[in-house]
Amino acid sequence: MSHWLDIVVATPAHSSVAGPLTYASESPLAPGQLVRVPLGRREVLGVVWAERCDAGSLSAGQTKSVAAVLDGIDPLSDGWRGLIGFAAGYYQRSLGEVALAALPPQLRELGALQLARRLKRAAQAAPGPAPRPALPELSAQQQAVLEAFAKAHQPTLLFGATGSGKTEVYLRAAQEVLEAEPGAQVLVMVPEINLTPQLQSRLHERFAHLGEGQVVTLHSNLTPAQRLKAWLAAHSGQARVVLGTRMAVLASLPGLRLIVVDEEHDPSYKQQEGARYSARDLAIYRARLESQRLGTVQGTGAAAPCRVLLGSATPSLESWQACLKDRYLRLDMPDRIGAAQGDSGPQVRLLDMGQQPRGTLLAPALMQAIAERVACGEQSLIFLNRRGYAPVLACHDCGWKSQCAHCSAYRVFHKLDRSLRCHHCGYTDPVPRGCPDCGNVDIAPVGRGTEKLEEHLSELLADLRRPDGSPVRVARIDADSTRGKGALQSQLAQMHEGHTDVLVGTQMVTKGHDFRNITLVAAVNPDGSLFSSDFRAPERLFALLMQACGRAGRQASQSGRSQMWVQTLHPGHPLFASLKRHDYAGFAQDELRHRQAAGLPPFGHAALLRAEARTQEAAQEFLRAVAEAAVQAGLPGGQRVVLYPAVPMSLQRLANVERAQMLLESASRPALQQFLAAWQPLLAQVRAQAAHRGLIRWAIDVDPLSI
Ligand code: ADP
Ligand code: ZN
Ligand code: ZN
Repeated sequence: MSHWLDIVVATPAHSSVAGPLTYASESPLAPGQLVRVPLGRREVLGVVWAERCDAGSLSAGQTKSVAAVLDGIDPLSDGWRGLIGFAAGYYQRSLGEVALAALPPQLRELGALQLARRLKRAAQAAPGPAPRPALPELSAQQQAVLEAFAKAHQPTLLFGATGSGKTEVYLRAAQEVLEAEPGAQVLVMVPEINLTPQLQSRLHERFAHLGEGQVVTLHSNLTPAQRLKAWLAAHSGQARVVLGTRMAVLASLPGLRLIVVDEEHDPSYKQQEGARYSARDLAIYRARLESQRLGTVQGTGAAAPCRVLLGSATPSLESWQACLKDRYLRLDMPDRIGAAQGDSGPQVRLLDMGQQPRGTLLAPALMQAIAERVACGEQSLIFLNRRGYAPVLACHDCGWKSQCAHCSAYRVFHKLDRSLRCHHCGYTDPVPRGCPDCGNVDIAPVGRGTEKLEEHLSELLADLRRPDGSPVRVARIDADSTRGKGALQSQLAQMHEGHTDVLVGTQMVTKGHDFRNITLVAAVNPDGSLFSSDFRAPERLFALLMQACGRAGRQASQSGRSQMWVQTLHPGHPLFASLKRHDYAGFAQDELRHRQAAGLPPFGHAALLRAEARTQEAAQEFLRAVAEAAVQAGLPGGQRVVLYPAVPMSLQRLANVERAQMLLESASRPALQQFLAAWQPLLAQVRAQAAHRGLIRWAIDVDPLSI
């Protein structure tokens, strides 16, 4: 007798009809079992989703059979399938796309025999436990937070100042969970793995006693073989701790009992292509799902069996609002480790650039302050969120600018290799000898980037000596300086070891690093974000500046003398007033008031429909047509969803593709969800019409980061 199975295979992104396919199998297979099945002329990887109970209408002749069962790998758990199902539904993608993308690519490619060999090799690891490492004594704050977290039955937000010791809290919380239950697993997520080598080594150090291979990392820079190995270790339960980037939230972790989301406010938790999921939001959902599965007894006050801990010094306004509404538990660590009483962190100084001659790059007072630090052997960090030498190259005779031929953006002038580079599509050319339009040889850079800042600082500080008499060393860290393998690590090491006096960099340098000798941080030109059309720009700017500020004075002895300088044309802006007071809560209150008045997240819920086409008209025409179709069809939830007119995206043309978008807003998340799900088939129908042949693709972004 045959068994009829619903099997999920890789399917195109939005075929809303692309649910599981039905296959026959001689033996019963458990849900979650990995199999190989024929699809067209190929044989592909699939996941058994369920056994079909309505098999009466199927006949053996019409249904293909499962080709092979990967029985060396345990079935994926109900929890994992529940998570994938939710993610696919919520972010409006097909189940097959999300499920298969969450599995390591090599699982799709390796034959059964190769796979069996891998599995055998993986099983050989894990020598016996080593002695437990000595643990630092907890601060009173850390102690209190850990006690409260141990009883938490809600998602928990650890609101801890930079340097307050959040990492130690994560490590202890993890340790407690791992020791309480032999099969327990912990997932620790970070925004970018490269920027957190310290966390990686601390995790390895702390949990080495569990045995080799018990801490694995999962991120997109692994080779396919490494990724498969790490994934298998997590799936088999051999790895007890998984450290990873956003993709790790979809890993198979059958023993998951704790999820830590470090720097939970970071935008890189939101996937920006394919299924545009928020790893932070999925972490919350996943912990709840696991807890339900493990049998939380509501109202008993017992801790949730799977807990989630978000950490940040500048939480996302979504998480902050959830705490205000008591949906999340908030635990505070306001003080830095080892800080003196009343020490509230570096002093913030606002430099009014309106008082400086036009075009001043660095105000003399700031230069003076930097020079003083160099002279006494302390380090400075200068932050400018723009790489390259200058954002535009221009001809003042005829008005030519270094426009990208393929995008609606200027190409950035890179002086070091004398190139013009588009930071959006990558289109690169050598700098022309003269203006391409009029031949004028005096084409000049406009504005400034990190390269120019580095050059300028080196010139201004050239005569200065360090305490040992050697010349000043200025260095730069940004996406350009760190392209080579290991480049970032060695540049960071230069800073840690005190070889660098002044470090110029983009936001890469502001995140997370525990530099010990910085007493001055400066933000050179943050004003762009104050009046951006992107409603999250102020939130991001505030977080960046607080983060940058947190790099200064990390040694208690220097804390009092440490400063953060901000060069701005708007010293009276309320955002800077909050920054001066190190007052995230005040900033959040102001910002949430604006958001509430405007019905923006977290008060309203948004989705974007994006369309790409060869012409802007074609892109917008599609959006108009599907909006019209939605109204005609009277879609469920439609009464509570506002559709805004189609508009060009802020980067309208990218690599010769025209882009347009339409905003959808609703005060009700369920209404928006209902509407989107019902809209999907209409989108596909309209897309198929001859009138929309010019359309290249469309995609829905639920809870978009920027609008
Ligand atoms: P955060 O992540 O909150 O910015 P860190 O976890 O980087 O802070 O901690 C700041 C510094 O304090 C680190 O150098 C860390 O090793 C140290 N630290 C943390 N907890 C303790 C403790 N209980 N005792 C001594 N030092 C600690
Ligand atoms: Zn010209
Ligand atoms: Zn371009």
